Amino acid sequence: VKNEKVAIVGSGLIGQSWAMLFAGAGYNVSLFDIDPSFVAKAINNIKEQLHELEKSGMLKGALTADEQFGLISGCDNLSTAAKGAKHIQECVPEELELKKKVMSQIDSVADDHTVLSSSTSTLVPSLFTEDLKHRHNALVSHPVNPPYYVPFVEIVPAPWTDKSVVTNTKILLEEIGLKPITMTKEKPGFVLNRIQYAIINECYRLVEEGVVNTEDVDTCMKWGLGMRYAFMGVFETIHLNAEGAKNYCERYAEGMKNVSRDFGPIPSFTGPFVDKMQEEICESIPLDKLAERRQWRDKRLIALAKLKKEM
Ligand code: NAD
Repeated sequence: VKNEKVAIVGSGLIGQSWAMLFAGAGYNVSLFDIDPSFVAKAINNIKEQLHELEKSGMLKGALTADEQFGLISGCDNLSTAAKGAKHIQECVPEELELKKKVMSQIDSVADDHTVLSSSTSTLVPSLFTEDLKHRHNALVSHPVNPPYYVPFVEIVPAPWTDKSVVTNTKILLEEIGLKPITMTKEKPGFVLNRIQYAIINECYRLVEEGVVNTEDVDTCMKWGLGMRYAFMGVFETIHLNAEGAKNYCERYAEGMKNVSRDFGPIPSFTGPFVDKMQEEICESIPLDKLAERRQWRDKRLIALAKLKKEM
């Protein structure tokens, strides 16, 4: 157990995951929400999840579920939550005006050394940290859902964020078991969603054009590309698929350019095709089975995480 504290602002899905990750590494965690009844629910939920993880052998860190749970406390007051925290992780809903308001409330109660970190999925930090007194301590740490099982996190500094704050945040996130990367400049969508949208765009076009159906595209991902990408990245893949990455470019540049020129425009993601696409997917996963399927997903992710631990 460390004698250090972090605060989580917003006790929803993402706030709860951050609380568990920090407690797993021995941090004292203060959990605040605008609605105190949500904090109580979150704390109950966390207790249950920690015990389930312990049972399945997937609890992170050296402490027991009870010990980790003992490090997390609910708080009905932002300044008490923030007091003495080395890091405050903002996890309120994704609306720019709300982010501005909550970050400025956090700013007004934070110590000069406290890092102000937002979980935003889409907003670059300069949009909502410019006027903060502690703006040199502010950045984005964007996790991936569900963060307890998917360790990737992207750190996005604003132009005014101190270099040391970026470095120390990376060290902290590694310490709680995550795999952070740091962007050197702001880009909409950060890294993960830019790559994800490139994939979604082409999958969508292939189905909209009637080349294959949704199931075929998903088969390609889970039995083709995904097999590799579960344990190595794009650059390692091309490096191994030829006599090195440079040789891959020499061999395949023409083909890659020709195929890329054939890509269609950005899809509209509206209109009758969207209904047809959904209908098709609902044949195997009806809308009232989504919760069940998410549980299945989390179990598969746990199994994959176990496998990757052995790598
Ligand atoms: P959520 O709706 O589950 O939780 C948000 C919580 O914030 C709620 O409990 C709400 O009561 C609380 N809240 C609202 N206003 C507040 C205020 N003024 N002060 C304190 N608390 C307040 O949302 P979520 O899915 O946990 O997402 C939170 C953030 O994390 C968003 O920015 C989202 O984009 C980002 N994120 C979400 C995911 C995801 O897949 N859900 C993944 C990565 C990042």
